[in-house]
Amino acid sequence: MSELNSLTLAEMRDALRAKKFSATELAEAHLKAIEKTNGHYNSYITITRSKALEMAKAADEKLAKGQGGLIEGVPVGVKDLFCTKDVLTTAASHILDGFVPQYESTITTKCWEQGGVMLGKTNLDEFAMGSANLTSYYGTVKSPWTKDGQPLVPGGSSGGSASAVAAHLAPVALGTDTGGSIRQPASFCGIVGIKPTYGRCSRWGVVAFASSLDQAGPITRTVRDSAIMLNVMCGHDPKDSTSVPMDVPDFEKALTGNIKGKKIGIPKEYRPDGMNTEILAMWDNGIKLLREAGAEIIDISLPHTKYALATYYIVAPAECSSNLARYDGVRYGLRVGAEDGLTSMYEKTRAAGFGKEVKRRIMIGTYVLSAGYYDAYYKKAQKVRWLIAEDFRKAYEKVDAILTPTAPSAAFGFDYKPSDPVEMYLNDVFTVPTSLAGLPGISIPGGLNKDGLPLGLQLIGKAFDEATVLNVAHALEQAIGFNAKPQALKMNDAA
Ligand code: GLN
Repeated sequence: MSELNSLTLAEMRDALRAKKFSATELAEAHLKAIEKTNGHYNSYITITRSKALEMAKAADEKLAKGQGGLIEGVPVGVKDLFCTKDVLTTAASHILDGFVPQYESTITTKCWEQGGVMLGKTNLDEFAMGSANLTSYYGTVKSPWTKDGQPLVPGGSSGGSASAVAAHLAPVALGTDTGGSIRQPASFCGIVGIKPTYGRCSRWGVVAFASSLDQAGPITRTVRDSAIMLNVMCGHDPKDSTSVPMDVPDFEKALTGNIKGKKIGIPKEYRPDGMNTEILAMWDNGIKLLREAGAEIIDISLPHTKYALATYYIVAPAECSSNLARYDGVRYGLRVGAEDGLTSMYEKTRAAGFGKEVKRRIMIGTYVLSAGYYDAYYKKAQKVRWLIAEDFRKAYEKVDAILTPTAPSAAFGFDYKPSDPVEMYLNDVFTVPTSLAGLPGISIPGGLNKDGLPLGLQLIGKAFDEATVLNVAHALEQAIGFNAKPQALKMNDAA
């Protein structure tokens, strides 16, 4: 594989501006690598070769004149949950068969306006529901990390994006995070992923899963690259009523390397009984490094943390059941049984079009919203959600950011068979509180476990304070000095 692919996004951006290579060469290097390895990783559902080369050519013309945007000529993978004009958009679901949007999402529009070059649409869990990329209609995705030579899952739901970035098949891929879908796959794949504050990035043109939780964000290999991408992606969008009209600071400038006096909270509730000792050790090491860098470490309590998972798995399915009502065989994609009448067509289309996990969520959501159970489940969950947000609000009277592990385990293999669906939901235990509170959270690689697999550290910030999150994460990234490479990357080079 071309060495160009191993550069960071910042290095690519700078080298393109210095004309060390062209956007076309860079796009071609990535397309070749994707075409060579996609049969193995399956990280892309659609590869947009001709579009990529067209966009790269346009970027080269701008760069030649010393013009261009923040990421002029940089290749970008796009989670297949973002609507892209004239490009198949699947949400990894059978029910969206053949859906080609007539419009472009705000986030992807911003990427292209700033010079990004679209490589293709990356794989995901169906409708972004999952933690291992095992529910895609287009097949599972492999991480470039392996254990005893065996492939591992990349995490989910932005598993294709994370696998592609870790396998050097894109320097950045767009993700979405409803309950952890950017941070957990970043943790599994030894890379960086940030979920901005709810309202920072427009949701317009992003296929909706749970509208009060969904946020777009980048998956990259370094914190600096995520900062650059947030400069591209953030900002008010009048087309999304939940997007917040607030100034966006220059996030790259926030990376000062100085975190002296920053107060970092360590929540005791993130140390449940029986927690993986390697993850505890990795977390303790992160705490130590922050202290050495001049941060003040403060023990805090987020007392309602233990209710977060249950709350999330009521709120998210409730919203999903309502959002997914639109897939009825009339307006989008798949249509089955039209000859048998309207009601029968709805039933047959939805029965054939949705996978098992999506159906499970729709049923849970319909149940918790139903007249007899609304008060007992949905209303109660909303109240607990508020208590969880209050916990954070109180903690932020004392601290600037909070450090926790990202996930309760390292990536697992394809032989992993959870005894029931709730076991898979446990993957989200450290990421959903942040989502319910609408706060920004980043995952960076914290170290390796004894099997040589990456473990992630999560930094959670105050609302709209991504700048502090990025600054602390950047300082910690430098202190950790994580430079392990996924085992399968060597396979790619040899291929
Ligand atoms: N794993 C979580 C779920 O399945 C989170 C998904 C997401 O953030 N999109 O709901």
